[in-house]
Amino acid sequence: MDAQPTRIVVQKYGGSSVADVERLRQVARRIAQARQGGAHVVAVVSAMGKTTDQLVRLAHEVTDTPDRRELDMLLSAGERIAMALLAMAVRAEGLAATSLTGSQCGILTNDSAGNARIVEVRPFRVQDALAQGHVVIVAGFQGTSWRREVTTLGRGGSDTTAVALAAALGADCEIYSDVDGIYSADPRLVTAARRIDALSHDETLALARAGAKVLAADAVALARMHGIALYARRTDGTGGETVVRLDAPRDRPWVSGVAGRPHAVLLRARDAAGAEAMIAALADAHLCPLAVTADAAAADVLVARDVADAVDPAFDRAVAAVEAMPGSIGALRGALASIVGPAVGREPGLITAFREIVRASGAEPLAVVAHGLTLSALVDPMVLTPVLAALHARFVAEGAHA
Ligand code: ASP
Ligand code: MG
Repeated sequence: MDAQPTRIVVQKYGGSSVADVERLRQVARRIAQARQGGAHVVAVVSAMGKTTDQLVRLAHEVTDTPDRRELDMLLSAGERIAMALLAMAVRAEGLAATSLTGSQCGILTNDSAGNARIVEVRPFRVQDALAQGHVVIVAGFQGTSWRREVTTLGRGGSDTTAVALAAALGADCEIYSDVDGIYSADPRLVTAARRIDALSHDETLALARAGAKVLAADAVALARMHGIALYARRTDGTGGETVVRLDAPRDRPWVSGVAGRPHAVLLRARDAAGAEAMIAALADAHLCPLAVTADAAAADVLVARDVADAVDPAFDRAVAAVEAMPGSIGALRGALASIVGPAVGREPGLITAFREIVRASGAEPLAVVAHGLTLSALVDPMVLTPVLAALHARFVAEGAHA
């Protein structure tokens, strides 16, 4: 009879968890603990601290329009530095360890540079190294296209690497960062925010798209597709955790959380044909609308800049170009304040109550858009934080039921 296969765990460590040498050593000790507990460990690592932001900024100092391929070459280097240093730190703990790039792990993507999607994972080298008893340290956020180009998976994409590997290896997936799970609002902005014990993939995905920074949206979508549970925890093991899984218990209010995106634009088209042309132009610029409403007479297309991007001239340029198209009748710019939960589309009166709260906290909404589990208001960026706090107080703390 075969022996019980050893459990494999994929642990992902974010940039703040490996920001300096002391923290790298801490992570190495956590990995050693898991390994000594009997599990095989694959650790996916992000670039150290703010490395990726610094590299993006550097590229834009060289040129206003960095080539997307060369940008991917540059950004993928951040994770390679972290993986090699972490492998050294794990070896210093007395364990065998091997670092592998995304390409070496068999992470195959499409060729959409800067925002590639994983199409297949062939983790042979990971499996070989695990079979030899090695801890495998993987550079997150990157893969390789069929044409053997190095690609990156979009900001926050190390989460996606972790989920893809967990799916390919039949492993559990733990996401470590400096917060002990997913909160009902960003605790730095809304002091009443509280940790959520369990969330469905759908709610988590909607929260991520609405601007919550804990998990990358693509990672959550991939986890849902493969039915994988995600455990979000703090790197030092203190505090609680959030479990993201298919069916989360519904003992909470019908609004799970609030989130904001500081840069959003509602592009207005003269008619549906104008909207179609605008959406096509956005797609050429690799931008995907959050929501679209169209009828024969007019259409609105909502887009927002990635929350992780401190600078993104490409987004601003693409949006300005679309705004100037013949089918466009202008654009509304603001911040997007959203509530997320099953109440959206289920609670009569929710939109009215939502509008009233936004208005009462000092902002006449420029627009209100319901999409899926999300209800968003486009507001003056100056009032984003008070609006989020007021929405949290009314819909999360108090509950969505009248
Ligand atoms: N280092 C990349 C970023 O900053 C990927 C990641 O952190 O997951 O977006
Ligand atoms: Mg991240």
